[in-house]
Amino acid sequence: MTNSTNVGAKSHKSAKARHKLNSNLIGIECLRCKTKHELADYFTGCPLCLAEGYPASVRQLYSADAWQVNSGHKGMTRYASCLPYTNFTTLGEGGTPLIAAPALADGIGTGAIFVKCEGQNPTGSHKDRMSALAVTRASDIGAETVIGASSGNAGASIAAYAARAGLQCVIVTTHDMNPIWRRAIAATGARLVEAKNSLDRWEYVEKRATEDGWFPVTNYINSPVGSNHFGVDGLRTIAFELFEETGAQGVDAIIVPTSRADLIWGVFEGFRFLKENGLIQRVPRLYAVEPFSRIDSVLRGSDYRGNFEGHTRQISIAGSTVTYQAIDALKQSQGGVVVVNDDAAVSDQRILAQNGFYMELSSAASLSGLRRLLDRGDIHADERVILIATSSGYKEFDF
Ligand SMILES: [Zn+2]
Repeated sequence: MTNSTNVGAKSHKSAKARHKLNSNLIGIECLRCKTKHELADYFTGCPLCLAEGYPASVRQLYSADAWQVNSGHKGMTRYASCLPYTNFTTLGEGGTPLIAAPALADGIGTGAIFVKCEGQNPTGSHKDRMSALAVTRASDIGAETVIGASSGNAGASIAAYAARAGLQCVIVTTHDMNPIWRRAIAATGARLVEAKNSLDRWEYVEKRATEDGWFPVTNYINSPVGSNHFGVDGLRTIAFELFEETGAQGVDAIIVPTSRADLIWGVFEGFRFLKENGLIQRVPRLYAVEPFSRIDSVLRGSDYRGNFEGHTRQISIAGSTVTYQAIDALKQSQGGVVVVNDDAAVSDQRILAQNGFYMELSSAASLSGLRRLLDRGDIHADERVILIATSSGYKEFDF
């Protein structure tokens, strides 16, 4: 394995590699220009698109016979044959419950709602599926320190998995990170660095990645690409679980709280893989929920590389940028986007809790999003819908 293609990898040492890439992994492809790249680290996405001024992520390609379910396993290791590493750093992530919510469906006048409870992952969010593989990649190429920019969930997750793997960890955040997350991150032995604002975090990560060879789990360029591409592949397992639980007819629409779209892209990639391998007929429509118009502006004609300012209490899906992968996932799945303001999310957070689902505000916005999508006629009352509950409400503070 060489790491010749991109910045940040040059000073990694390879002598301590402890993991081996999956032999089913056959290549890497740019989402945008479709160029096939060698198997390496692309921390700033496709180098050709970056040079052109259009940052875009890359994705892993797998052989056609990669789909083999480890039927004795529960969680992400069940799908190890179609992940970048078959043997990876794990804390038992994945295998989260999919719960039918008939009273909720009756309450808003739709057929069937299911809640995918990602808050039941080891550190309480879907980010664990990504951290498991990103940290494994860092170990494999001999990095000694991982670094990530985070407002909360990703930081807590990366820190826990780095601790598990015996790696140093630095999480770059802002003054706004609440004390519950701070304590969880610090408890692992990770170091917290405070940047002035969200975009300044990326400058710090870039410096450490390019000058010191620290392994960046999250994006550091502006306009951004997705998080570490080996890590994002772990999010595909959400699609694999939904497929196994709902069968080939599956679901019609999935509603996903979205900022820079690692999650919605990962879910799309998982379903695309299943379709390409003849396991399902069609990819469900994916709908992004965002707290103010970003993706929405892009779908109306704005450049995805723009800056889209807005304020929100939906911390986990805040931020002023859009990624290419967000637009690609929505277009290819024939879904769309819905903007949900804080008041609507707060109201639905309470309603969800009254049905037993205590979600973070950003997750509760998915129910508000569903209401609007039903009103708009984008989703029909007889369709089967899944809400991705990215994290529970227990980490939230002072609302
Ligand atoms: Zn490209």
